Amino acid sequence: VADHGRRRDDVRDLCRRQGVDVLLVTAPANVRHLTGFTGSNGQLVLTPTDVVLVTDARYEERAAIEAPDLRRVLDRDWVGAALRIAAVGGPETTLGYEDHHVTARTAGALVERAAAASLGTVAAGGVVEVVREVKDEAELARIEGACAVTDAALTALFERVRVGWTERDVARFLRDRFEALGAEGPGFDTIAAGGPNSAVPHHAPTDRPLSEGDLLKVDCGARVDGYHADTTRTVALGDPGERMREVHGLVLEAQWRGREAAVAGAAAGDVDRACRSLVEAHGLGDRFVHGTGHGVGLDIHEAPAVTAGSAATLRTRTVLTVEPGVYLPGIGGVRIEDTVVVTEDGPARPCTTTPRQLLVL
Ligand code: ZN
Ligand code: ZN
Repeated sequence: VADHGRRRDDVRDLCRRQGVDVLLVTAPANVRHLTGFTGSNGQLVLTPTDVVLVTDARYEERAAIEAPDLRRVLDRDWVGAALRIAAVGGPETTLGYEDHHVTARTAGALVERAAAASLGTVAAGGVVEVVREVKDEAELARIEGACAVTDAALTALFERVRVGWTERDVARFLRDRFEALGAEGPGFDTIAAGGPNSAVPHHAPTDRPLSEGDLLKVDCGARVDGYHADTTRTVALGDPGERMREVHGLVLEAQWRGREAAVAGAAAGDVDRACRSLVEAHGLGDRFVHGTGHGVGLDIHEAPAVTAGSAATLRTRTVLTVEPGVYLPGIGGVRIEDTVVVTEDGPARPCTTTPRQLLVL
């Protein structure tokens, strides 16, 4: 069971340290994380002593069911409602808002109306995301559930997929499996890329049939109770040739090094460096065209960014992906990705465990 009260206390601690008296939370995943509310219109006002969910009449019942412990206000003018709640703290109160989420127009109106009410405002986007980087037990259970479904679906796929299947067939098979295994469905659009298409990092599935010697790169993940899995495997339909075997071996080694580097206390950028330095040493640095990974949770892409120079510190129970890739345009590409959780000591523990070595079907 999710402990929303404890999550809110963690956010309050961080707000206090940043000089934010009252936090207005508007990003839906952040509202869900701190309340359990899943409606499309919900804002959370978090004060040192109060917590109020602002929504509208359409969601009155859902809010009462999903967030029964909260004070609820029905008001379509949620900016006005937030200012009224913040004003209880007196004229010196500083209201933090999620500047990375609200539109410039809404932010402008908020700042103006706050000033008229003698309240201070401060951009506080990212505060909740920092707290979300470390998962609690309830979250880990959901992520691990999503990863187990994803592994089972991939295993079934690799038992069945053969020459002649299209990329769309692969994506459809996985979606059906995810649902049959009890997940909500795919957490994001599956990438299924065969042959030369595997060289496109974010290829959208087409009707191209798989043929003998093709690499098949599959990037997918189920969603369970709002939480995501994210994994990529690259397999071959028959012999992919010497060059692509080498590339696969290189990416496999880079991915292992990245997982080994994902230890508590490391910077996220260290994980990127661990993968990238090996690829660079093989002269393929310019073919590793994306970051090494990202946090995973209620959002498929969330903090921390696992990219070059990222200073975010990995903490115990941070969940992230490690997904180096090497892409040779017109020929083929290999990516190997796992969702992993940072442990108290030792390397990160993979939550996705489908075998990574080159599977030749
Ligand atoms: Zn992925
Ligand atoms: Zn990913």
